[in-house]
Amino acid sequence: MREKFERVFLKGKGLHAGDSWIKFDEPLKAHTSLRTGGRAAVFARPEGLDPLKELLLFARDEGVRVHLLGGGTNVLVTDGYHRALFIQTGGFKGIEILNESGGARVKASCGEALKGLLSYCQKAGLSGLEGLSGIPGSVGGAVLGNSGSFGMEIKDSLASADVLGPDGEMKTLTRDQMGFRYRGTALGEDEAVVSAEFLLRRDEPEAIKEKMNDFFEIKKKSQPISEHSAGCVFKNPEGASAGRLIEEAGLKGTKTGGVMISPVHANFFVNTGGGTAADFLALMDMAREKVLKQTGIPLEPEIRIVKDESYG
Ligand SMILES: Cc1cc2nc3c(=O)[nH]c(=O)nc-3n(C[C@H](O)[C@H](O)[C@H](O)COP(=O)(O)OP(=O)(O)OC[C@H]3O[C@@H](n4cnc5c(N)ncnc54)[C@H](O)[C@@H]3O)c2cc1C
Repeated sequence: MREKFERVFLKGKGLHAGDSWIKFDEPLKAHTSLRTGGRAAVFARPEGLDPLKELLLFARDEGVRVHLLGGGTNVLVTDGYHRALFIQTGGFKGIEILNESGGARVKASCGEALKGLLSYCQKAGLSGLEGLSGIPGSVGGAVLGNSGSFGMEIKDSLASADVLGPDGEMKTLTRDQMGFRYRGTALGEDEAVVSAEFLLRRDEPEAIKEKMNDFFEIKKKSQPISEHSAGCVFKNPEGASAGRLIEEAGLKGTKTGGVMISPVHANFFVNTGGGTAADFLALMDMAREKVLKQTGIPLEPEIRIVKDESYG
């Protein structure tokens, strides 16, 4: 597989465009907030739509599995060798105000940090995204996962998204066409969110800043935000809190290998150093079993598990 990519993208043209780059046997630990993961056969960071299209079309024609990565803050990447193409979206940058009537329509590229988008909107006096304060990762990852906090989800402000399909066709989907649900959309795994447009209201920059600070302070107190985690491990079941259920099962502080159920918030599992995806998965099984036994409630993963070949 490496040879094919080398032949086409290193000796050919394609990914040479701009500052795009491609690497082989790349350690994935470096690209996830949890710091787990084996190696990726191919890891690319395209700058712009053309190199992204070339990669996707080539992967499709060669039958190579593709994984998109934004900030890597919501993924558990398993420990083995990933015979796949990982595409990191950090090369897609740009935020612009498109239209000022009645509020503003803001367009952001998928590789922008969500934090950067919030800060841009705050300075421009544009309100609507404050509830996402303190969520790490990229705009694309947040849209794909319908990220949210404090009773707000990114879909609440989203007007439309530009999505690139595996056939290289770009389409603009409205919020309704995105099929948003709790922590997800109806998009397929082989579709890439390239940019998104948000409809925001005018407000005083200071007032927006205050709201963002308030939300961030709550997050800092209630979540282990400075440790290596992938955010909430399980979705909240209807009418319940996954963290509370795990805490009530007596599992706060429980450790498997280098991964621990955070004593701060039981729905965050943190890598305390040298933890592996296998440690993490073992803790997930333990939490799921205990909670099921104690309450009859089945917990479902919120994190996205990216499996290597050994998982089939
Ligand atoms: C400390 C901490 C706190 C967190 N708090 C919250 C919270 O309050 N609320 C919340 O919802 N989440 C939270 N998270 C989880 C995570 O930060 C968010 O889900 C974030 O939006 C994921 O963005 P990302 O770029 O890191 O996505 P990644 O982890 O890189 O990817 C997540 C998924 O999105 C896909 N993806 C990424 N980019 C694209 C793209 N451009 N097009 C298509 N698919 C794409 C990936 O393939 C993967 O399936 C937290 C995480 C941490 C570590």
